Amino acid sequence: MRVLLVEDDPMIGHGLSKALGAEGMSVDWVRNGADASAALADSTHSIVLLDLGLPNIDGLDLLKSARRNGLNAPVLVITARDGLDDRVSGLDLGADDYLVKPFEVRELLARMRAVLRRHQGRASSRMVAGETELDAETRELSHRGLVQVLPAREYALMHALMERPGRILSRAQIEERIYGWGEEVESNAVDVLIHSIRRKFGKDVIFNVRGAGWMSPKSRQ
Ligand code: CA
Repeated sequence: MRVLLVEDDPMIGHGLSKALGAEGMSVDWVRNGADASAALADSTHSIVLLDLGLPNIDGLDLLKSARRNGLNAPVLVITARDGLDDRVSGLDLGADDYLVKPFEVRELLARMRAVLRRHQGRASSRMVAGETELDAETRELSHRGLVQVLPAREYALMHALMERPGRILSRAQIEERIYGWGEEVESNAVDVLIHSIRRKFGKDVIFNVRGAGWMSPKSRQ
């Protein structure tokens, strides 16, 4: 899952990039308004973490114009401002939730999951497709009675496939979802991950669609 982090504080930015990376997310971190505007116009992120106090622009203005320009991803505001007015205008301008610094990473992760669930219209952290289930909280994949916690990248790949069961993702679309900007991606990286998941769960945990890409099992009709 690709996360866009808009944060000018280097300590917080490094800390969050590392913590989210350890959860299997790819974090694209931008530190000022201009980079943030450009990044918000790119639609490859599943969620945006937005600081409000940025050099040369206010995060709320950024949010307002990004929503006006069609940004669809959920936005979680992370900020030191805790005035009621700021919270209310943040939510009114299209933020999905609001977290006041300092916060524990565990709370951020829980709120990110909640925001993503709401955004995807799911009531629980489990994604289900036929006999396959992925738990976003524990990173546990279960398929026909086999249950294992997936390593970060394998989880990210299954998450991308199971967001919409039965949808085909090409190699480029998978890479775009699981690797961040500037990350070196070996040409066979996706094949290696798929091979590893299939070795543990069997061949039909991921379907090959010749010439098009891969998909998760379909939901039961
Ligand atoms: Ca700041």
